[in-house]
Amino acid sequence: MPDDAPLLSVRDLRVSFRTFDGQADVLQGVNLDVPRGTRVGLVGESGCGKSVTMKTIMGTLATPPARVTHGQIMFDGQDLLTMPAARRNRLKGTDMSMVFQDPTTSLNPVFRVGHQMEDIVRWSDRRRGIQRNHKARKARVLEVLEMVRLADGERIYDAFPIQLSGGMRQRIIIGMALLNEPRLLIADEPGTALDVTTQDEILRLMDDLVREEGLSLLMITHNLGVVRQMTDHVYVMYAGSVVEDSPTAELFDNPSHPYTKALLACVPKLDGTATYEGIGGSLPDYTDPPAGCRFHPRCPHATDRCLTRPPAFTVRPGHTAACWLHEPEAHA
Ligand code: SF4
Repeated sequence: MPDDAPLLSVRDLRVSFRTFDGQADVLQGVNLDVPRGTRVGLVGESGCGKSVTMKTIMGTLATPPARVTHGQIMFDGQDLLTMPAARRNRLKGTDMSMVFQDPTTSLNPVFRVGHQMEDIVRWSDRRRGIQRNHKARKARVLEVLEMVRLADGERIYDAFPIQLSGGMRQRIIIGMALLNEPRLLIADEPGTALDVTTQDEILRLMDDLVREEGLSLLMITHNLGVVRQMTDHVYVMYAGSVVEDSPTAELFDNPSHPYTKALLACVPKLDGTATYEGIGGSLPDYTDPPAGCRFHPRCPHATDRCLTRPPAFTVRPGHTAACWLHEPEAHA
């Protein structure tokens, strides 16, 4: 495999759910790449399929009711969807790790922090066939607590989660994800349950750690400010597919898909020039989605052409938009 191949590459990923109202086609052919050592954002409103994408990559999607009907998820040259379950499980929490959004519910309140962190080390040691005693495992936990800038590691090691602040707990969640030296970190809206000042500290910490440790990051968020601050490249999702992808700075300078433009228009601006109108309508019913471009019932530019699903057109090098407005003939 060439060195410049992405660490993670998702191709035409389709996921459906069986519901009482029929089959819900939630992912409609997702494509995305996370190159080695880069920070990639996956952004979209709640219910657009970000978390289903993330869970399918991590292998934590409940099947049933979900079913992966098509696609490929290549991680370091291996297809996660076809590899034996035992091999895939070995990657979880080791080579690929997750940072969850809510530090309150992600830690077990009845066990001390050190116990929970050591459990992760013990579990992954077993899967990797490594033997470490308690002293060595504790040393690794203390090392990681220092990495996430928590002073007085011994005290935190012995503390119960309730004795710590939300920001400290979020740092511990990040530390747990780093314990086994992952290559890919998937962060699901980290810090959204915290106040904005603490959230900013957490995001800066994650950014530093990703750079220092040379990790690849897939950041899942609905927050465009977080995307701007934390990513090099961004994928915009709408109703189960990627509608635009671009280097982050380029996306903010030249948003090209009508949905991305509408999202950006909703962001409050300090000079008061934002419209604050929001995006009219709502996400479609996945059991009976609109034909063609799923955004067409909400799009001010929709035409009959939009009843056919648009492919991703190149807007500029490295920047695509799945919208008929960018069909080359449309500009001719
Ligand atoms: Fe709007 Fe049509 Fe473009 Fe979809 S394809 S975003 S409906 S103009």
